[in-house]
Amino acid sequence: MDCIYCRRDSGPEPGIAHIIPEALVRNNATLPRGAVCDECNHRLGQLDSALVGHPAISFAIQFFGLPGKRRRPRERIGPVSRQTNGRHWQLSSKATIEGIDSSTGGKRTARFTIAPEPSFDLLLFRRALHHVALNYLAAIRGTSFVLESQFDDVRRYVRRPHRGEAWYFGERDGMGEHVPRSASLRLLRPAPEYTIFQVFHREFLVDLYHRPGFTAVAESEGFAVIDPETERIPPVSLRYVED
Ligand SMILES: [Zn+2]
Repeated sequence: MDCIYCRRDSGPEPGIAHIIPEALVRNNATLPRGAVCDECNHRLGQLDSALVGHPAISFAIQFFGLPGKRRRPRERIGPVSRQTNGRHWQLSSKATIEGIDSSTGGKRTARFTIAPEPSFDLLLFRRALHHVALNYLAAIRGTSFVLESQFDDVRRYVRRPHRGEAWYFGERDGMGEHVPRSASLRLLRPAPEYTIFQVFHREFLVDLYHRPGFTAVAESEGFAVIDPETERIPPVSLRYVED
């Protein structure tokens, strides 16, 4: 089978590639064996760590104490540290507590913002989103579909971007107060293929074709557009209501 990233033969005994990285949530959703060759699978693994550095994602992972590849909760991800007893979270100096109030039916509500660490690599993060979205399309439409030439540009972008190359994406809070311990993918509508990648309470919109109309589509769906000129994402505001 040909690899959907480098288009070379994946060889006789290729390993398993996950659709959604296990660095986010442990899962069994994988691509057919050989859809991604071992070399690409290994090389694209560096994108996983950029994904978990997003402030909203690292906070949710630490809040739930989700295990990483070594199968235990991680002490520190992005701007959020977690004590080993699992009862305390330490936000880096990039976080600001905006307030705690009791206005929601007697329940306490905490609002805070977390900025990404200076080391958060937005270029890698953008590619990581497109990587997951192309994996998803291969899973639902088949690997031969994503081997078609209209995906040559995105496979090149994910694998070997030009220096400083940045593609659009959109992000929004999609879940209200309930934060699911899950990540999932779906298409915005059946066609064309704008992909929504839900990670805990955050949703990201990706266009694998990198079309000019992205901003209008994203804004009409309530996504904030992170355009190619943006070098740092704004701080993420989170709101938690006591159970
Ligand atoms: Zn490959």
